[in-house]
Amino acid sequence: PAIVVGANGQVEMIEQQWGSRRGPRAALLRKHMRGKTVKTVIEGLVEISPPITVRSVSEAIGMKVGDLSKRLLKETNQLYGVNSPIEFHVAASIAAEKNVELVLKKQETAEEKLLREFEEAAENVDPEKLRPRPPVVTIMGHVDHGKTSLLDKIRSTKVVDTEVGGITQVIRAWSVVHKVEDPDTGEKVIERRITFLDTPGHEAFTKMRARGANVTDIAVIVVAATDGVRPQTEEAIAHARAAEVRIIVAINKVDMPNADVEKTRRQLYGMNLLPDDMGGDTQFVETSAATGQGIDDLLTAILLEAELNLDEDLQADPDRPATGTCLEAYMNADEGVMATLLVQQGTLKRGDIVLCGSTFGTIRAMYSDSGRLLREAGPSTPVRITGLKEVPNADDPFFVVDEIAKAQEIADLRRVKERESQLNRFAPVSLESLTAAKSKIKITELKVILKAEARGSVEAIKKELEKLVHEEVRTRVLHAGIGAITESDVQLALTSPDDTLIVGFNVTADDDALRLAEARGIKLNEYQIIYNLVDDVKAALEGRLKPIEEVVHLGRAVIRDTFRISKVGTIAGCYVTSGVIERNARVRVIREGVVIFPPADKVVGLDSLKRFKDDAKEVREGFECGLKIAGFDDVKTGDVIEAFKIEVKQRTL
Ligand code: GDP
Repeated sequence: PAIVVGANGQVEMIEQQWGSRRGPRAALLRKHMRGKTVKTVIEGLVEISPPITVRSVSEAIGMKVGDLSKRLLKETNQLYGVNSPIEFHVAASIAAEKNVELVLKKQETAEEKLLREFEEAAENVDPEKLRPRPPVVTIMGHVDHGKTSLLDKIRSTKVVDTEVGGITQVIRAWSVVHKVEDPDTGEKVIERRITFLDTPGHEAFTKMRARGANVTDIAVIVVAATDGVRPQTEEAIAHARAAEVRIIVAINKVDMPNADVEKTRRQLYGMNLLPDDMGGDTQFVETSAATGQGIDDLLTAILLEAELNLDEDLQADPDRPATGTCLEAYMNADEGVMATLLVQQGTLKRGDIVLCGSTFGTIRAMYSDSGRLLREAGPSTPVRITGLKEVPNADDPFFVVDEIAKAQEIADLRRVKERESQLNRFAPVSLESLTAAKSKIKITELKVILKAEARGSVEAIKKELEKLVHEEVRTRVLHAGIGAITESDVQLALTSPDDTLIVGFNVTADDDALRLAEARGIKLNEYQIIYNLVDDVKAALEGRLKPIEEVVHLGRAVIRDTFRISKVGTIAGCYVTSGVIERNARVRVIREGVVIFPPADKVVGLDSLKRFKDDAKEVREGFECGLKIAGFDDVKTGDVIEAFKIEVKQRTL
């Protein structure tokens, strides 16, 4: 405990880590321990649970009921019976006088109890029971460097399961078996499993981490040898490092004639990814997703990496009730909620009661990544299950619970909490709207109706859209859902057709939606690539930003003489002291530092600009010229003419 004790043995300071920072215990410590000697206070730590009454406090601090009542009367000027409630802080301060630290024991909610039990169980791993588990791998790298192709190649060459039905439902994680050499015989016989997460890209990876789900053990950073290290390569490396996952480098597209492996390697060395012969410990593998070259080496490298880091992280106890993370979930017309879960600890069994985020259910059917029915699934196994009541969020952790009632209670509680926090989020007056009101900026809203094939996509896209912020324009996701674009989506858009976008990601519009959209001139936008979707929304937003006018300073001239010409007016004979005076420029006249013409709400130009007798388009610094200001003849020697132009600029986010 971080208690700082002074020279006289008295407590001078209590550091906040001691106990929870805001909990009653920390507050009490701060209030009552300062000035006390450490010994006496620490001796008497007594827990008390509500309701706090004269009786319970009397028992807790060992003070007679009568004495306590008298003491309370003195403290609060009120009479107390034996069952009268006492406020905790009053009880605590009286307890402190008796050198007892009263600690309020809050009643645990079912959720807190469950989570505590799981946490305790997680801390109580029996090292004896730990078994190695397959590593979970995420592939990251710059767009077009071959992440998807590598995953496809690995899957097509390695998945030998032929029981896959006609349905090729995409599952967001799958595992392959790779044979490695038996160190004793040197033959390739030992079979090892590797699980791949099929959501390449560091955005998904980062999103998972942001929600506390750290499912990846090893990151394969893919760099195309034809292109070298690019911005997203660097980002991917940074994200992998931040997550403290092991990195393996796959230099891809080595089959291409313009592949420059050496240059790519050097760029990576520059990012402090060094192979062992250079003093580092990063494995480099050269691959081609086109020819399959290096795929086996990559898998071997992954297994080696896993083996080398076979600490507690890459082990799990298969005998416990399962826990893990939901990777993906969606609604299926035939089977209800389909969820892809990655089992991380324990073994998941058909019939298990699962609590996942704010939903729950009994596992009705469980499928492997290849669509085979499973009875049970151990650590690092991705499975698809049916039986959850509602679609959970991607990245929600799941737990196996022993009673359905308990699961339901916790799920309900969480849902209430979620709703509360959502209400808060849409509080009528936000800081943002206040500041906007103050500066009289009207915020233009672009409404988006978003439909996607899966919850994970919806969330990833929403997250991206949230990043498009500007003080004058913003997007609001009016509605986000899973499934095709339907007539009701179009109806919704019709409520304000000019500033609503309907976007579909990996989904199309059904016939009714198409018909209505066509009839009413609503555009439906379908995408397969998140970046394209976000770019289009961004462009639409930027189109709503009012262009701004920018004053571009051109130059100055000082008037050396003036000439009056009848029917024309006064010509100013000038010397250009800086920049340039353009024939089409806007001008102002400055006398002794003050703008004397034109008035603030007007802009004026020149009637003429001449070098000697000739009209000039522009006159530069160091030259003389004669000019006539439109609508102004009161020029005097010594006045300064300032030339500028106004540029209209389309702003960007
Ligand atoms: P991702 O954006 O990183 O997922 O990249 P993709 O896997 O979609 O690959 C981008 C393009 O590069 C596709 O046209 C692939 O066919 C091609 N490609 C990927 N890997 C290789 C490779 O190793 N060799 C060759 N020749 N082409 C590749």
